[in-house]
Amino acid sequence: MITTHSLGFPRIGRQRELKFALERYWKKAISAETLLETATHLRIQNWQDQAVLDWIPAGDFSLYDHVLDTSFLLGNIPERISRLSGNELDHYFRLARGRGVSDDADCACVSAGELTKWFDTNYHYIVPEFDKNTRFSLNAGPLLQQIQAARQQHNQVKPVILGPVTYLWLGKCKDATDKHDLLDGLIHVYEQLFRDLKDAGVTWVQIDEPVLVMELSDSWKHALRKTYYQLQAAPVNLMLTTYFGQLQENLQLVCELPVAGVHLDAVTARDEVVKVMDWLPGHKILSLGVINGRNIWKTDLNAVLDWLEPIHARLQERLWLAPSCSLLHVPIDLNSEQALDADIHSWLAFAVQKLQEVKILATALDHGRQSVYDALLENQGIIESRQQSERVHRAAVKSRLLEISPAMYRRKSSYSQRAAVQRERIPLPLFPTTTIGSFPQTQAIRQTRLDYRKGKLSAEAYQSAMQAEVEQCVREQEALDLDVLVHGEPERNDMVEYFGEQLEGFTSTQFGWVQSYGSRCVKPPILYGDVLHTHEITVGWIQYAQSLTGKPMKGMLTGPVTMLNWSFVRDDQPRSETCKQLALAIRDEVLALEKAGIAIIQIDEAALREGLPLRKSQWQDYLDWAILAFGIAANGVQDSTQIHTHMCYSEFNDIMEAIGRMDADVITIETSRSAMELLDAFDQYHYPNEIGPGVYDIHSPNIPSEEAIIDLMKKAAQRIPVHRLWVNPDCGLKTRSWEEVKPALKNMVAASRYLATAFKETKAS
Ligand code: GLN
Ligand code: ZN
Repeated sequence: MITTHSLGFPRIGRQRELKFALERYWKKAISAETLLETATHLRIQNWQDQAVLDWIPAGDFSLYDHVLDTSFLLGNIPERISRLSGNELDHYFRLARGRGVSDDADCACVSAGELTKWFDTNYHYIVPEFDKNTRFSLNAGPLLQQIQAARQQHNQVKPVILGPVTYLWLGKCKDATDKHDLLDGLIHVYEQLFRDLKDAGVTWVQIDEPVLVMELSDSWKHALRKTYYQLQAAPVNLMLTTYFGQLQENLQLVCELPVAGVHLDAVTARDEVVKVMDWLPGHKILSLGVINGRNIWKTDLNAVLDWLEPIHARLQERLWLAPSCSLLHVPIDLNSEQALDADIHSWLAFAVQKLQEVKILATALDHGRQSVYDALLENQGIIESRQQSERVHRAAVKSRLLEISPAMYRRKSSYSQRAAVQRERIPLPLFPTTTIGSFPQTQAIRQTRLDYRKGKLSAEAYQSAMQAEVEQCVREQEALDLDVLVHGEPERNDMVEYFGEQLEGFTSTQFGWVQSYGSRCVKPPILYGDVLHTHEITVGWIQYAQSLTGKPMKGMLTGPVTMLNWSFVRDDQPRSETCKQLALAIRDEVLALEKAGIAIIQIDEAALREGLPLRKSQWQDYLDWAILAFGIAANGVQDSTQIHTHMCYSEFNDIMEAIGRMDADVITIETSRSAMELLDAFDQYHYPNEIGPGVYDIHSPNIPSEEAIIDLMKKAAQRIPVHRLWVNPDCGLKTRSWEEVKPALKNMVAASRYLATAFKETKAS
């Protein structure tokens, strides 16, 4: 018989119960006991949802983040946290968020752990910290309790633990400590943990080492060997679990490590399965992740069975089946969706449905396809309906794609020629000031949008309420004397969702939430079909804003790569194809803005960097099509139209050249937190166009002083000619309040004016 298992399940709850409980607890509206009760209920619900499979996971649930949990399991709490008063829960949230509950005494004085993306997902984990004082000590109590509770629901429980090598790899050294020196201590704690698990009756442990899909140096490979050779004496069976990609040059290593079983992401690494079977010693289990844990589409079960049957014939009992990775990255239950179009609904599978697919596959292998005849027939009908649907395939979009030519994605003239024309059309002072797009999204704005959505507000009433917001925003910017204005984006809930709602080929869900970090969730739109721009989306708003002022108004759009990376996209064509379709749709909007007389258009590519593949060897390919897509969207305009782009991160030294190739006239980036460290990259690579290094860290409530901004800009001016510098915040202002934004921008404008005078004088003298 085939064994089925789940690698992990979403924690947040069908109704985002965990989010609301956490936020209420942080506000002191509920007690710790109530919070923990909610967590207990959610875990039980999760186990019940997974009970269709043979093995359910324990320890995959987390109040905030599983990497943070691992730090607590291993007793690796930074000293600045552990010396504070309070219990373990207080420490936990302090490390997660910099504070425990809202009115803590030592509230502001501790910095939170750094938050970073979990491999190539949109989930963020708290980075483990190491230094010369780091010692590990086992704290298995909470995990053991969860295992015990899981046993009351199900008889086969498999703890999920982040492997020691990936844990080390994900962490950061705060001093000159070499991470590899910490390995022995770490292995020792894992040995203890496995003994405790054995005593608790555990037989199988899922040990996650996703680092095995990365390009690893010899020292990391050595660390893996050392760890697993040492852990082979463990009294439990280890299921070495990899996901998110192919093993490639690590394949042989994975097969050789002395563990009882290996899990492979058979969605992304399907081509490697046969090779792994060839290498894997005959006593080891091979678990195949055959259902995609990263998207929301139903699997073509017959096609998977065609492929799996011979594998099963070879492996027999040694074959386990699972989703490709933890289901953390997909929404929980499709049955919650009541408003989705019936066709599209039928094509989807969320976490609960994906587990059912695993079960059907296992039954078909064990007892023949006949035993699940109805389920397979239904599945086949749905797969075919999607393949043939006119909702998905639009001939006009496909033929337009074939007509893409360099003339479409390259500007007509060089930057310097364009800059001259633009200076004529849009006269601006030295160090021109602008913002990144959004202004504070007040409660009133959100309420208006909600009322409109719920039908409580007519289209006319909504329109005029929003125009009033735009007008107020324009007046404030004029009063601040900013040079290039924006309309403020009050009509947008989210930069991707908003455009998704307006373009054909997208749909959105009601409850399709996915955890981004801690209590924060996102609801990615679903891109199901060929993308079509059918009507002007932003032109009305921007034109209205422009009509209110003599200053230039910047049109504001989300770029194709960001739309792609922050949506659930189709799996029936390459991402690069989908991205080109998005690019054509955004291009239509860009050209409509231009036609409406808008001289400056910003196309945000906030997520361009995070789309980079895990392996560097694949970066170039991604960057090539991403830059092409941006070009298609942006570069059809006349010389006199100024294209801006915005990226909200500062580590792009390694992709600087690609960013140069986008050829935007102006790029605004995040730099204020890194004190312009980013600009070091400019020593090697001379960014050829204009650049606005963010001088106001919008993630913090702090108001930057005029002097601080001048300082930052002077640093920038050492690397970049002053006539190519802009002054702007790091990112959009929507999460800030007007009370913070006004003085900050006032200082920013004053700094710009000071710099303009200072540098004009230097130039003259
Ligand atoms: N224009 C968007 C805004 O200002 C950009 C947001 C982002 O970069 N994440 O909100
Ligand atoms: Zn940003």
